[in-house]
Amino acid sequence: MFQTRQIASLVIAFVAAIPWVFGGAAASSQDMEPPATVEFLSIDDLAPGTYRYQFNAGSRNTGEAIWVPVLVLKGQKEGPRLLLTSAIHGDELNGIFAIHGLLDRVNSEALAGTLVVVPGVNQPGMNANNRHFVGAGGGGHMADLNRLFPGQANNGSTAERYVARLWKNIIEDNVDYAVDLHTQTRGSDYPLFVFADFRNETAHQMAHDLMPDLIKNDPGQSGTLETTLMGKGVPAVTLEIGGPKQLQPDLVARAVAGLENVMRGLGLLAGERRKPAVQPFVGANSTNVFTDHGGFAYIHVKLNERIEQGQKIATVVDAFGREKASYFAPYGGVVLSVATDPLREPGAMLVRILH
Ligand SMILES: [Zn+2]
Repeated sequence: MFQTRQIASLVIAFVAAIPWVFGGAAASSQDMEPPATVEFLSIDDLAPGTYRYQFNAGSRNTGEAIWVPVLVLKGQKEGPRLLLTSAIHGDELNGIFAIHGLLDRVNSEALAGTLVVVPGVNQPGMNANNRHFVGAGGGGHMADLNRLFPGQANNGSTAERYVARLWKNIIEDNVDYAVDLHTQTRGSDYPLFVFADFRNETAHQMAHDLMPDLIKNDPGQSGTLETTLMGKGVPAVTLEIGGPKQLQPDLVARAVAGLENVMRGLGLLAGERRKPAVQPFVGANSTNVFTDHGGFAYIHVKLNERIEQGQKIATVVDAFGREKASYFAPYGGVVLSVATDPLREPGAMLVRILH
């Protein structure tokens, strides 16, 4: 969906922009000042410049603080406040690298407005190598932080309190627009894909400015950061960047280019917004094809592939290689997601179709 030549030039630009990601030198020592700690962020009170903080988002069962990195890049010129978040799901890492790439290309002199960046929202999940917030109580428990916004400060669960502190002390009073960066979940893959609620014209425009392969016009889901912000009148979209637990340079480079384009569109960066070489496919529905049988999955389609209704899309076989079932597309559309872990249990997704 995106021309190979453009991907190549973007990857080259990205590699040049942050060489240490690909084995080059580390940042110089004067850039390595330890971040200040912060309990409450009020960016309107800050002078223009770059601020790196560790936010105290809660405490562990040992009483130690859970520190969440927060970066503020406040421009010399007035302008809107754009929030970028990543790793609300602790194993979804491409967004962190997209943020690194973007920060290397943007400085406060050129910026009209403010970037507020939380590059690792779910620190306990990242520590535990897990999608979920991982708490210690009850012999260990897990929670999906992106279903708990805006959290609950009083009488909430461990995870609800963590979300509430982030929401109240960092996010709520410091945001005009937002892009929340994700990937597909473990064992499956996405292309560059945006969830956006087109009832909000600005969110609709932001989705296109990100120049993704696919967009789902989606009314949102309760408890997600995107939908919670939209409920407060803050245009927000969710950008999915490939698969979890890896750094995918081509998709990350495209995400950086898309985020820069969103910043142009919102007036944080000078210049005209770019148009993608190929328009994204937009659908209002996505349908999962699940396996009814445990076994070994052969997926016959690829991400972004246009498929016809009735087309054979997957086969599940037993340990002896004998076919248990074949699966066919219930709708024509475009392949939004595929299973990358071929061991599938009953009820597991094989293919997701956007239509
Ligand atoms: Zn996610």
